[in-house]
Amino acid sequence: MQSPIILHDKEFKILFKRDEISRRIKEMGTEITKIYGNKKPYFLIVLKGAAPFAMELTQAFSGECEWGFTKVKSYHGMENGVPNIEFLELPSDKNQPLILVEDIVDTGNTASFLMDYLKGLGFENIKIASLLFKPEKCVKNIAPDWIGFSIPPEFVVGFGLDFDNLGRNLPEIYVHSIK
Ligand code: 5GP
Repeated sequence: MQSPIILHDKEFKILFKRDEISRRIKEMGTEITKIYGNKKPYFLIVLKGAAPFAMELTQAFSGECEWGFTKVKSYHGMENGVPNIEFLELPSDKNQPLILVEDIVDTGNTASFLMDYLKGLGFENIKIASLLFKPEKCVKNIAPDWIGFSIPPEFVVGFGLDFDNLGRNLPEIYVHSIK
């Protein structure tokens, strides 16, 4: 794929190439397997952005597992909004470990909201795997247990992440380059 690319008149340049992303996800899968390989975790995949990451992560996990999806509406354009659950699939056994699979933890609002909500339902063993993390933007007392890449507080697209619905299909991750 060429770099820079243009989406809705904005320019983005390459941040992580495809092979780099896949290599890191495999490492994360191995790390998760070490702890949860024999515990049958339930991967709770946060749509839409985490879908490509989740597919590779669950294949890099060795052992029995289950998965389900949730959709939390929390983002408009380049701004963050208030989280609101659109749907949520959960296991019936509240003792089953949950691994929240996120595309990105930015302010931490979504992850922290989901954590509190799931704990309120009685789930106690909840971890977070996020492909990307913006530590400088995070305002909540929350950090993913497994992080693909920590990145600066800039807007990124690709590999599931969109800019006003465009860019999710890009195989690489791009960052908005302010000229
Ligand atoms: P939060 O601020 O709650 O941690 O992140 C909420 C959601 O905002 C993320 O799941 C993601 O969908 C979106 N988001 C946050 N930062 C970015 C970004 O840099 N690029 C894109 N495309 N989406 C983002």
